[in-house]
Amino acid sequence: MFVNLNGKMVSKSEAKVSIFDHGFLYGDSIYETVRTYGGKPFLLDLHLARLQESAQGIYLELPISPEQFKLELNRTLEAAQYLESYIRIIVTRGEGDIGYNPNLCGSPSFIILVNQLVPAPAELYERGVSVSLVSVRRNLASAINPAVKSGNLLNQVLAWMEAARHKDYEALMLNYKGELAECTMSNIFVVKNRRLSTPALDCGILPGITRKLVLEIAQLNGLEAKESSLSPQDLLEADEAFLTVTSREIIPVVRCDHHVIGSGVPGAATKFLHAKYKQKVEELMNSSLYPIAEMKS
Ligand code: PLP
Repeated sequence: MFVNLNGKMVSKSEAKVSIFDHGFLYGDSIYETVRTYGGKPFLLDLHLARLQESAQGIYLELPISPEQFKLELNRTLEAAQYLESYIRIIVTRGEGDIGYNPNLCGSPSFIILVNQLVPAPAELYERGVSVSLVSVRRNLASAINPAVKSGNLLNQVLAWMEAARHKDYEALMLNYKGELAECTMSNIFVVKNRRLSTPALDCGILPGITRKLVLEIAQLNGLEAKESSLSPQDLLEADEAFLTVTSREIIPVVRCDHHVIGSGVPGAATKFLHAKYKQKVEELMNSSLYPIAEMKS
């Protein structure tokens, strides 16, 4: 694991922030997770744009520009020299006296963590996973907006614990209306009669970058894909379902609690989209225009 703390490469044991950092005290921080392909960060501009949006969502001024984030990230990746990396970029409110007022804090801190990307086990894709439809509801967008990727993650932690009790891979949360929202670290899609659906952004979810790319890939390949309000029944009656997340791309879902989804094995549309997703990654990473090309995606 390699850590860049405010522009300084530090060892794991030196990688510390103050207990007075409001990120620690109040979960007053934001973050992004990015992965590399061929050693290069994938869709970094989109992740940095979402980091900027998250910053705006909590009235935080980023301590460095997107260009500087790129330079710092490249420095950290060069130090790490992993074949493929998992990257976490964190910005905290900074150190300050106790009190909610952000003006108590000095400047925000940034942290770039680079770790070796551990490939997901093949059986995840070959056999699919099960999800728990948990009792923990996704945060209300007018309370702690799920569109902000904040370090205030207790909502996800509690949901995840519920799924873990059932030994399920992910926890699927409903929003306050009882509609499907998202999982603790992934977005959900259902497939019915070769038509894709995923909860709309106004259902109160993170605008997943993989979700967005999958919607575009579906469209490019002539599959109907819509963003809408979905009920738990839509999932239970689906032919197929899958999760999307940067680090693991497209993960087939074959069970929700005790219900088998579709035929209980990863479906044809899911496999097709995953193959197309991998092709798209290759295309983007090998494009001479990269990273400009990614902005079109
Ligand atoms: N939803 C939540 C709550 C997440 O934390 C994540 C990623 O960590 C996602 C969805 C998937 O987002 P992305 O595709 O941008 O990785």
